[in-house]
Amino acid sequence: MKPEAKALKSGLFIERDRLDDHRAPVCCDADTLQVSRSQCLPQSLSYRFSFPDTPVEVIVDLLTKAKEIATACGSVPEDLTSHLQKALDIASGLDPYLEEITTQESEPLAELYKKTMSHDWDQVYKDGKTLFRLPKECITGHVEGQTLKMLIHMSQAKRVLEIGMFTGYGALSMAEGLPEDGSIVACELEPYLKEFAQPIFDKSPHGKKITVKTGSAMDTLKELAAAGEQFDLVFIDADKSNYINYYNFIMEHNLLRLQGVICVDNSLYKAKVYLKDATDSNGLALRHFNQCVSRDPRVEQVIVPLRDGISLIRRVSVVSERSSMQGTITDDEVFRGVKGRSILERMRLDGKVAYVTGGGQGIGRAFAHALGEAGAKVAVVDMDQAKAEAVGRELLLKGVHAISITADVSKPDDVQKMVDTIVSKWGGVHIGCNNAGINVNSASEDTSLEEWDKTFSVNLRGTFMCCQAAGRVMLKQGYGKIINTASMASLIVPHPQKQLSYNTSKAGVVKLTQTLGTEWVDRGVRVNCISPGIVDTPLIHSEDLRPLVQRWLSDIPAGRLAQVTDLQAAVVYLASEASDYMTGHNLVIEGGQSLW
Ligand code: NAD
Repeated sequence: MKPEAKALKSGLFIERDRLDDHRAPVCCDADTLQVSRSQCLPQSLSYRFSFPDTPVEVIVDLLTKAKEIATACGSVPEDLTSHLQKALDIASGLDPYLEEITTQESEPLAELYKKTMSHDWDQVYKDGKTLFRLPKECITGHVEGQTLKMLIHMSQAKRVLEIGMFTGYGALSMAEGLPEDGSIVACELEPYLKEFAQPIFDKSPHGKKITVKTGSAMDTLKELAAAGEQFDLVFIDADKSNYINYYNFIMEHNLLRLQGVICVDNSLYKAKVYLKDATDSNGLALRHFNQCVSRDPRVEQVIVPLRDGISLIRRVSVVSERSSMQGTITDDEVFRGVKGRSILERMRLDGKVAYVTGGGQGIGRAFAHALGEAGAKVAVVDMDQAKAEAVGRELLLKGVHAISITADVSKPDDVQKMVDTIVSKWGGVHIGCNNAGINVNSASEDTSLEEWDKTFSVNLRGTFMCCQAAGRVMLKQGYGKIINTASMASLIVPHPQKQLSYNTSKAGVVKLTQTLGTEWVDRGVRVNCISPGIVDTPLIHSEDLRPLVQRWLSDIPAGRLAQVTDLQAAVVYLASEASDYMTGHNLVIEGGQSLW
């Protein structure tokens, strides 16, 4: 929360019971008095802890008073006053420091904050535009907003549910952390707040990810459950008395997906949750909520003591709940995952070392990125040094361990050097993508031996040499995955272009793959190949081939050329342990073209 907001909020102990259909129309001074919403919120208040709000502010307030007493009373030892001052410095410096050091908010967030703080909420309420007098201090501030954004990134959430949007600062912060196709459903009781936030959402490139549902949050939850919706992250920041109802509903109706997280704001509620003499209803509601969650065997929770506390609650794995369901489940590898790992985890390539030949552009570049994203270290190999280096840099930028190697796969020395370099750098090689290839077109009666030899020396001889050099290392390791790039041209005769040597060389790649795949599998090395259809890469942008695109399209049931990204999942699958029973296979990805 921004310092000014913090000042105002702290000065008042305001709790806006958002989305509470049964709430009394009050904002409250939590310590002493209940005042009507229209009575609260004088516009100018000083922060100096007259009404501390969070546990840290309570501590600062008490230390300030203690120090004043100590200073006023002449007989207090100087040491005690100096210790009090040090404690005060530490406590009072914390929030401003977090504010200063946390990454700054985006422009739309800053604008939303300013708009919220300068809006005349009193007038809006008096004009009957809102059901309640809304205190602007309820805005999720800068530090909490960035914390939510970070949580979204860390949990790799794509679908978010927010219960209690207010003016949308939290929703927009989370939207900024979501991927492009991510989305947030934000529940807000007051329709006025949707109108208020929407123009700024529209200004942000992330605003389109937010859908605001106005009205009772519980009604919205019921709607979402009936529609079978699930969320990766749920943020609850609404009426405290209903926290437990929202939580129970979410858990019982599976609105939270298996690996999902629930974040709950204000879970330390001004320290009332653990102070024995606390009596105010919101504090007691939060205390009850925290207890229920801590006893719920379905979840684990921690409370992060940021500002007024943020609970992070995650479902424990189904496997650890199985003892309570003994007899009703089949507790095998299908249920618990192979070595306890789910199917997507089994496709990860963490700790594996991979190389991709022809990795400087096109399909090879897409393979290199896919393997790196899945966790492998990647050597980008290409005869074009600049291209290999450029892709290597892209991977490093993404946080992938990467090197670039210049090698011509048609040269035995280059191939051996490539494997030696990788082994000496990373200690082994687990995944070999032999992808470099060339395509020269000519009518068969005119095909020169030179063209034939050149094509074969890269496409088939080069692939064989790479398989052999990497295979020797893999056989010694007792583990390896080789993925060769063949082509649909190994199965059908693509037309009308004439490419005898290419087609024949790629058919050779498939037979090479089948032979090695069966010969090496009992020593832990699987060899498979991928046969793409026509892929939109520089290879087909040659002067000869470019005019043929329209003709090809009419031969493709999928109605379009393949993009390199269409092939990425296949290479990760074949590189991962999930495909360990697959060997000598030709995985055809051609939009159905070979079937027509
Ligand atoms: P591309 O021409 O876009 O990229 C090939 C890369 O390989 C280039 O960076 C090039 O410098 C490199 N290269 C070429 N010869 C090399 C050699 N001797 N040693 C090392 N590097 C070399 O090609 P692409 O479309 O990405 O194709 C990659 C593979 O996929 C090839 O084997 C190709 O036959 C196959 N394939 C492509 C298509 C398609 O439609 N593009 C379809 C099926 C199969």
